[in-house]
Parts: sequence; C-alpha cells; structure tokens
Amino acid sequence: MAMMNRSQYLASLDDGRRIFAEGDEIKDLATHPQFATAIKLVGDGYEAHYQPGADVSGPYFKIPRSREDMKGLLKDLLDWDMVTVTTSQGLLALLTAAARMRPASPEYADRIEAYFEYCRDNDLRCVQAITDAKGDRRLPPSKQDDPDAYTRIVERRADGIVIRGAKLHISSASVSHELVVMPTKNMKEGEEDYAVACAIPVNAPGVRIVNTNYAPREREEDFPVSAHHNMPEGFVILDDVFVPNERIFLAGETRHSATFAHALGLWERLGGTAHMSEYGDTLVGLAQLIAEANGTEKIHHIREKIAEMVIYTTLVRAGLEAAIANAEPSPEGWYFPNELFTNAAKHYAAADFSLMVRHLHDIGGGSIVTAPSLRDLENDEVGPFVKKYMATKDGIGGEYRTRLFHAIRDFTADAYGGWQLVTMIQSGGGLYAQRLVARKHYDMENAKGLALKLAGLA
Ligand SMILES: Cc1cc2nc3c(=O)[nH]c(=O)nc-3n(C[C@H](O)[C@H](O)[C@H](O)COP(=O)(O)OP(=O)(O)OC[C@H]3O[C@@H](n4cnc5c(N)ncnc54)[C@H](O)[C@@H]3O)c2cc1C
Repeated sequence: MAMMNRSQYLASLDDGRRIFAEGDEIKDLATHPQFATAIKLVGDGYEAHYQPGADVSGPYFKIPRSREDMKGLLKDLLDWDMVTVTTSQGLLALLTAAARMRPASPEYADRIEAYFEYCRDNDLRCVQAITDAKGDRRLPPSKQDDPDAYTRIVERRADGIVIRGAKLHISSASVSHELVVMPTKNMKEGEEDYAVACAIPVNAPGVRIVNTNYAPREREEDFPVSAHHNMPEGFVILDDVFVPNERIFLAGETRHSATFAHALGLWERLGGTAHMSEYGDTLVGLAQLIAEANGTEKIHHIREKIAEMVIYTTLVRAGLEAAIANAEPSPEGWYFPNELFTNAAKHYAAADFSLMVRHLHDIGGGSIVTAPSLRDLENDEVGPFVKKYMATKDGIGGEYRTRLFHAIRDFTADAYGGWQLVTMIQSGGGLYAQRLVARKHYDMENAKGLALKLAGLA
C-alpha cells in the first residue's frame, strides 16, 4: 500500500496506452495541448494528498459511514480534480452495487470489494465507462444491425472473458489508470452477453481511446477558465479485450444489469448537484459583478433576474442538503444518498441551468462575445482606446471589465460554455433518467391520498 506523487503519476502514464486525437496517435501526453492541463491538474491532486510510507491512502478512498461523513466528502469533492472525483464516485457506486448484489451474488460482491482495495492500495484513478454507442435507439441490443453497438462478451474462457464494443463520452479516460465498465441499461432475458461489468486497465491490449477537448488552442489569456481547467473526453474502443476472472463483476446475470447504472447514477448525480450549486453561485457572482461594472445593478429587471438566480442556486443547495440529511445506511454500515432528493435536485439544477445562463447573458450585454482580446489592450496604438471605451465609470477600468467579459464568455458562451450546457443536461444519464428515478422513489400513494381527501373521496 503506497500513495503516488506527481512524478510517479506521470511515470505511470507511460504504460503503452493507445491514445489518439485529431487524427494522430499521441505518444507524449504531458506535452500535448489536449492533455497537458489535465495531467497537470491530476498531478496537482496527487501532490496535494501525497504522504510517504506504507499504510496510508488518499481521503478520496474514504467510505462515508455517517451523514456527516457524506457532507464532508461532498465538500472535499469540490476541491478535487475531476479524475479524483470520478474515482471516488465510481468506486462508491461499485460498492453500492456490491451491497445490492451481495445476497444473490456474493462472489461478485467480494471481487468488487477486493478491487476497491486494489485501487486504494495502489492509489489508482478510475473512470466509469457506461455509455455505449447504442446504435438505433428504438432497438434493444440484440436487435441492432451491428451486435457490437452495446458492449458484449464475445468469448468465455476458463480464466476470463473477452469483450467487444465502444464506450462513448468517457471523461478523463486517457489520463486515468482504470476503466470501470458497466452496462448502460437494464438487459433482458436473451441479452446475457450484454450484461457485463468489469474493470480494465487503460493500457490493456485492445483498448484505444480517441479524444476531444474544449481546451483553447490559442490566446490562453482570453480563456481564463478553460485554459486552466480542461479534461479530454474519451471515445473508448474495446476491441476484443481480455478480462481475467478476478476483474469480472457481472457476466450474464441480466437481473443485476441495471444495478450498476442505478448505483453510479446516484453518486454521479449527487456529485453533479454539488458542483451545480457552486456553478450557480458563480453565475450569480458574475451577474452581480457585470451589473455593477455596467452600472445596472439597481435597475428593477436586473435585480429581479439576479434574485431569480439566487433562488435557483439556493434551491439546488437545499436539494443537496436534503439528499444528505436523508441518506440511508447500507447493510454494510455505510451511507448512500437519498434517491428522491438526489434525482429531483440534479434534474432541477440541470433543467434550469440554461435559463440562469440566459439571465447572465441578458444582464451582461453583447461584449460577452465581442470584447477585444487582452492582447489588443496591450497594443500601443489601439490599446488605450479599447481601455477608454471599455471603462464605464470611476473604479471600473477598461481592463477589469474586459476581463470580466472574457470570463463570462469562456465560462458560458464559448467552447467550454457550450460543453457545459450540454454536459449539465446529459451528465448522470440525462434528464429523462432523473425523472424516471425521481418518480419511482416518490410517495405517490401519499399524494393520491391527499388528493382523494381534498376531493371528499377518501
Ligand atoms: C461531457 C460529457 C461527459 C460524459 N461523461 C461520461 C462518463 O464519464 N462515463 C459515461 O459512461 N458516460 C458519460 N457521459 C454520457 C452521458 O451519460 C450520455 O450522454 C447520456 O446518458 C445520453 O446518452 P447519449 O449521449 O448516447 O444520447 P442518447 O441516448 O441518444 O439520448 C438523446 C435523447 O434521446 C432520448 N432517448 C434515447 N433513447 C431513448 C429511448 N429508447 N427511449 C426514450 N428516449 C430515448 C434521451 O432521453 C435523450 O433525451 C458524458 C456525457 C457528456 C456530454
């Protein structure tokens, strides 16, 4: 058992993994513009937590054993890099699935617990690889033209299985160590080969990852957010990958196929809601600052919009608090968040995020997308004019206001902003998935009883 520091993490990436971007195979990730920032951020995380010696492990491997623990975990999570967050969430989801599967499949539950210890003891970073290519959305896996549209077992051996398929949109896969593969949805009888969950090292033979990233390619100073916070999204190809028995967590038991996605959905949505409550506060801060810089902060409709944003972010936080306050114990004695509050809060936060961005754009004005580059401010000839006309009043200089506009554009209206808008909606399985789970856990009988009483029909 030992923790890794930054240089050990960097060395661990040189493991023969097959990584592609913009048409090329990338050999040196640490110096490539699509990966360098991500690797620096993950390295910062390793360095911040590193403790030498044996018998130590990172706080991201802590299992919440009370509601207070869970609250602490969510607070920490906001300070961690994305890969450390997905490691914590993904392993907690696996443990949740293990607890739910244990009565029927104790062997899988034991393997998951052993895998958790393996990751903790080697200080590894994991990502969750759930979303399949899915082919024609109307058709189940077994009816697709291409049987590989959903990841499946193509060979069963005495020592393991061979799987084939693709997992799409897998955040940070190329800068992590382990892919935790889970079924994307419930599989039915006859779809046993698609009911597969397992763990695969990123450098396993047959794994290739094609990446995209919103990292700015130029003028870093005009992208104050995304130049310093970006992660590659991985299109993970699983081309006949061998998985040994000890890393197989499901291989044909369709009744457990949805357990993994549900468990991950729960932890990912809780983490997502925690991040959204902070994003909500950031949007309020940007709206208030730009209104003050523009001299509009006391105008009625601007105040109204900011008040609406304040209510949004407060209710997101309230949902998060309720999810923790109503957390439930597992048979193993640790806690997992309340399903109804987690899903309702995540849905509300995601569905109205774009409305909050609209308010910010409405308040800010056109300079959000047309403010000159910071380099133009330094130009001897036009710089003084840009500063003069971007300034609004005493105390609000042209450079300050221009920087605010660049932050708003980068955060909400450019490549990273667009990425955020889609991610808010799709992360954690999309709005529809959250509605399904919220409805399932809502006390409908109580609601019907109240309605019947009101109607005098009780
Ligand atoms: C930035 C980003 C990061 C992500 N990170 C990860 C990750 O790390 N790991 C991971 O596993 N996934 C990840 N995802 C994937 C995310 O969970 C999916 O995008 C989401 O589940 C939607 O799946 P899809 O993109 O294939 O869209 P689709 O499934 O095509 O969905 C599009 C729309 O069609 C609807 N729809 C589709 N099929 C049906 C149907 N049969 N019946 C009714 N409605 C249907 C959906 O509800 C939705 O409204 C990420 C996504 C993004 C955008």
